[in-house]
Order: sequence, then structure tokens, then C-alpha cells
Amino acid sequence: MGGRRVVKVDYLIIGGGVIGLTLALALRTRLPSATITVVEAEPVLGAHGSGRNSGVLHSGIYYPPESLKARMCASGAAAMRDYCRSRNLPLLPLGKVLVPTRTEDDLQLDLLASRAGQNGVDARMLTAEELAAEEPAARSASGRALLVPVTAVCSPHAVMRSLAQDCTAQQIELCMGWRAVRFEPAERRVTNNAGVIAKYRLLINAAGLHADTVAHAFGIAKNLHILPFKGLYWKLDPVAGIRLNHLVYPVPDLRMPFLGVHTTTATDGAVYLGPTAIPAFGRENYKGLAGVRASDAIRILGASASQFVRNTNGFRRLAMVETGKLFKRRFATAVQRLVPAVRPEHLLPCNKIGMRAQLYDSASGRLVNDFLVEKGPASVHVLNTISPAWTCSMPFAKFVCDSYIET
Ligand SMILES: Cc1cc2nc3c(=O)[nH]c(=O)nc-3n(C[C@H](O)[C@H](O)[C@H](O)COP(=O)(O)OP(=O)(O)OC[C@H]3O[C@@H](n4cnc5c(N)ncnc54)[C@H](O)[C@@H]3O)c2cc1C
Repeated sequence: MGGRRVVKVDYLIIGGGVIGLTLALALRTRLPSATITVVEAEPVLGAHGSGRNSGVLHSGIYYPPESLKARMCASGAAAMRDYCRSRNLPLLPLGKVLVPTRTEDDLQLDLLASRAGQNGVDARMLTAEELAAEEPAARSASGRALLVPVTAVCSPHAVMRSLAQDCTAQQIELCMGWRAVRFEPAERRVTNNAGVIAKYRLLINAAGLHADTVAHAFGIAKNLHILPFKGLYWKLDPVAGIRLNHLVYPVPDLRMPFLGVHTTTATDGAVYLGPTAIPAFGRENYKGLAGVRASDAIRILGASASQFVRNTNGFRRLAMVETGKLFKRRFATAVQRLVPAVRPEHLLPCNKIGMRAQLYDSASGRLVNDFLVEKGPASVHVLNTISPAWTCSMPFAKFVCDSYIET
């Protein structure tokens, strides 16, 4: 759209994260000659969720079988694995070991094993002896563990670069540094930060951390708001000499949409510990008070306080436990419950920090646990692209096109 003041497109996608790009590509397979444009506020790809995640291709054992997450996780992971292989992108098929960190979490292993069965995922219960052979560095409070061999890790930045190249090759325009600031749904017009106007037939909102704000401009999802949670990581010092054969995860609190601090071996071999899920004061509050806006902070504090008082989904424990992980020693203690040999001095600071675009329903006072898609005037809004939306992105894009977009 370079240089022009008013442009016309058939499909305008707000947000060039993994959801925006995979949606554009899925639309192209249905519409070979339509004009499709993705506008991305940032000058670089993957500046938010899609470049700041763990890159884990989840198996889908956590989620209730009827959820969108469960329905798309196994096929999404397979699609992303195939994509990485076909493009020669880094892929590490290590598998995952899940361990209870408290004895009372042991029963959850049976629930997870049964969900794995319902969701068609291969998972095997390990005895203490088998765990010691598979993953000697890990500790299980009960002795038992669940092995999920199919879990793999990809490189988010390599995938994003490749998807962007696919878009260009398929005549999908990708406009970087194009921040949509004004929405006029009745006129089907969007204006950007430089005063450029885009007119569209259909707008698709894939704005991640800002998807609620965009939806509100269309008069929909007014009770839904992003409640950001900060995901901090530390890097494991290779000098520690701790060898991990798999990704090691705790058995999570299934009432919450977070998986707990775990180990992730990245495709370059570096081991990351994290991410946390610490309530944050702003959508882009990656460091200190940067990215905090007063109006947002007041709303977020109010929603967090309400969650704390109501204690829905065990929020009070989550807030206290997770906030403690701001401190290196408390974070190290959380990791030691999984991998006892890790010491605070083995944790190297790293600039990998992600922000979870978690949706909160102010009407019910609950966190929304599944992906959500809403139709608005000449628009479709993709809300709550929380983990494992990276894993699910390819089948999810197809689902949105099939179910919400008349082509
Ligand atoms: C710490 C962390 C770890 C995670 N780990 C995993 C994992 O291991 N596996 C997994 O499956 N998932 C994981 N996830 C989830 C995954 O990262 C997200 O589900 C996914 O990246 C969401 O993609 P998206 O395109 O919706 O959002 P984003 O990547 O945030 O993209 C949205 C884009 O919209 C742009 N935008 C916003 N407003 C505007 C506007 N007004 N105009 C133009 N552009 C705009 C933003 O700049 C942004 O680039 C993790 C998430 C976090 C935070």
C-alpha cells in the first residue's frame, strides 16, 4: 500500500502474527484472485506473541475433548511439523515428560492419560524406574510420570519468516509498520498512524494482545477484555552440566490456562526455564513500567482484584505463586521441583519475555479458557489466541475460513 493515501482491498487482516499470516494463506487457497492485505503495526515480524513463545508443538493432552484447543492441537502440531520439514526449518522432536511436583497432583496424571486417549495422542505412563532411565535429571513427587513422545520444538522466528515469504509468493501484501488506529465499520474503513485509509470488503481482526480493543470498535465482545500475564524465562547455564533428554513439565492446575514453569530445549540447543504467568500492568509491559498505559492499568488492576476476591479458577494461589517467581530464588525453587540439580546460580538472565493475550469475561468474572471467534459488521474477530494457538494455527486458520468467512 506504499505511497497511496486511500487503498481498496477485498480482505484486510489486522495483525501479522502467526494467526494473521496463516489466515491470509488459508484465504488465498479459497480465493486465488482476491486482494488480501495483512497490516502489521510493528516494523519487524514476531515482535509480540508469535516471536516470544516457547515454540513447543503441543500434543493436546491437557484440553477437554470438546474444546477447539483439543480439536486442533494434534492436527496443528502435525501440520507445523510437516511444514518445518518441508521448508528445512529447525525442528527438535524431543518428546515431553510430565511430572507431579506435589503428591496430590499424581491423580491428575491419570486424567491427562485419559484425555490423551480421548484426543488421540500417544502417551505412556512411566514408573519411577522408567522415569529414571528416560529422564534421570527429573524428579516426580509420586514417582510416576507421563511420557508424550510426539511433542516437538520449532523455531518461531524461522517459521514466521517462512510464512511471510509464502505470503509474498502468493501475492498477499504484507504492510509492516502499519498500525490501524481508527476503525469506521459503517464505512468499512480503517485509518493508520500515517493517515492512510484502507477500504475493505471484510476485515479480519487478528491483533493478538489488542484484539479486544479492535472488536470493541466494531461494537462486539464488549464484556471481553485482555488481561495480560507476563511470561519470563531464564536460560540454563550450560556450565551446570544438566542434561535433559526431553522437555520436562509439571502436572498443571487444569483450572488455569497456564502450564507452569517448565524446561524447553530450543532448536539451537539452549535450555530455557519458564515461562511464568505473572499478572502484568499493560499489554506490552515487557520490562519495568514500559508499555503501561494508565487507563489500561486501572482496568487490569480492577479485573485482577476482582479475580483475586472471587478466587475463580484458583486465581489467588496463581497470583501469589507466580508473582513470587519475579525473584530469582523463588523461580529456582519452582524449577527445582522438576529438576532438583538446578541452582539459582545456574539461571542466566535472558531477554526472552512474552505476554499472554489472555481474555477475561467481566460478565462472568472468569478467564476464557478456549479460542474464541466472533462475527461483527463486515468483520470477523479472532479473540483469545492463547497457548497453544501457535501449535493450532494452521487448522485454526482453515476452521475460521470455513466457519466464519463466506467466500
Ligand atoms: C510466553 C509465551 C509462551 C508461549 N508458548 C507457546 C508454545 O510453546 N506453544 C504454543 O502453541 N503457543 C505458545 N504460546 C502462545 C502463542 O505464542 C500465541 O498463541 C500466538 O503467537 C498468537 O499469535 P497471534 O498472531 O494471535 O498474536 P501476535 O503474535 O501477538 O500477533 C498479533 C499482531 O497484531 C499486531 N497488531 C496489534 N494491533 C494492531 C493494529 N492496531 N494494527 C496493526 N497491527 C496490530 C501486533 O503488532 C502483533 O504482531 C505462548 C505465548 C507466550 C506469551
